[in-house]
Amino acid sequence: MRRVSIFGATGSIGQNTIDLIKRAPDEYDVVALTGASNIKQLAEDAKALNAGIAVTADEARLPELRAALQGSGVEAAAGAQAITEAAHRPADWIMSAIVGAAGLAPGMAALAQGTTLALANKESLVCAGNLLLETGRAHNAEILPVDSEHSAVFQALVGEPMDAVERIIITASGGAFRDWPLADLPNATLAQASSHPNWDMGQRITIDSASMFNKAMEIIETREFFGVDPAMIEVLIHPQSMIHALVGFNDGALMAHVGPPDMRHAIGYALHHPARAHLPVERLDLAAIGTFEFRAPDDTRWPALRIAREVMARGGLAGAVFNAAKETALDGFIGGHLKFTQMSDVVSRTLEQMDASGGHIDATMTLDNVLETDQMARKAAWDAIHKLGQ
Ligand code: NDP
Ligand code: MG
Repeated sequence: MRRVSIFGATGSIGQNTIDLIKRAPDEYDVVALTGASNIKQLAEDAKALNAGIAVTADEARLPELRAALQGSGVEAAAGAQAITEAAHRPADWIMSAIVGAAGLAPGMAALAQGTTLALANKESLVCAGNLLLETGRAHNAEILPVDSEHSAVFQALVGEPMDAVERIIITASGGAFRDWPLADLPNATLAQASSHPNWDMGQRITIDSASMFNKAMEIIETREFFGVDPAMIEVLIHPQSMIHALVGFNDGALMAHVGPPDMRHAIGYALHHPARAHLPVERLDLAAIGTFEFRAPDDTRWPALRIAREVMARGGLAGAVFNAAKETALDGFIGGHLKFTQMSDVVSRTLEQMDASGGHIDATMTLDNVLETDQMARKAAWDAIHKLGQ
């Protein structure tokens, strides 16, 4: 039996992971499941999978979780510290699918036990790529990509020499507003931004797809994961979301990964790696699809793509500032304090402000420094939101 834990079990990635585990319950011993606000789902899955422990990030909800688990034999715990402690519990495979920078500390704890980390939480790579990868190396822990584009690149690279790679192309659907007139973008509503044309995902990443902040994060994620020069990374708009990425080699060959837009593929690949196993995803009928469509991305529509390049050129803890500013700008948009197009203004202003205010971006990349910079950047981003709102 493989011991598995799922961090962010109640979310979109977490539920897709649980779907795969529930199809073969005899193969898995579930060590820990974590969630935040969705106590009902957390308790239901923890009982169904007979998990060792269920943890909610929200300390105030512990009594509710305890009550829901009563008599089941599943332990209950709460708080950020308890989540990180759960990541120390021995497991052979750990899914990192908490949303946001909150996934960093548990991911680091998981790596410190030398486990295989299936990484959906791209924020931790953007905030602290070096730190995460070095922790993995130091403890002989394997990190497998779960983001669909990065899983696709990873699969296209199997058996290939890295020095023959010329370029990595990650695709983007273009999100909810790819065909909108630019003049309408400032008036995009929360409901409009929260609906994705192809993928069924959590609300935050869906809005990030519309603004392309998700793709901006993924450019940085590609750089960190595959150690390539930023100039080798390209973004290609592909509205159908069936080609997830392409790797270009020095002989002109392009290896593309093609599959339906279903996260259970990338999750399942990471779950069974290095083997391949049957997965319950749709088989594409290419003749019925007929054509694949591509377009060049447009930095005017999606300033996030340009900002990602600036962040990589700046280096240091600029990724932590970028992620914190992006998360805060998203909170601002969701809370009705910002227009859709103002999110990128907040992120740019926060990066400028943090760069001007001395030392933070150039501090050594330790977990403490990253978390402190994250907090300062969030404060600077709220200041920027309030100024823009005036
Ligand atoms: P969801 O919003 O659907 O789920 C997020 C999960 O994190 C939930 O379990 C949520 O708990 C939990 N959570 C929220 N806040 C905290 C916190 N402060 N501390 C601990 N746990 C918390 O997100 P997704 O599943 O869409 O995304 C998860 C990660 O995977 C993100 O990093 C995202 O970028 C990445 N990803 C997602 C893809 C997708 O298809 N969804 C594709 C590629 C990457 P609760 O729901 O109980 O409040
Ligand atoms: Mg992706």
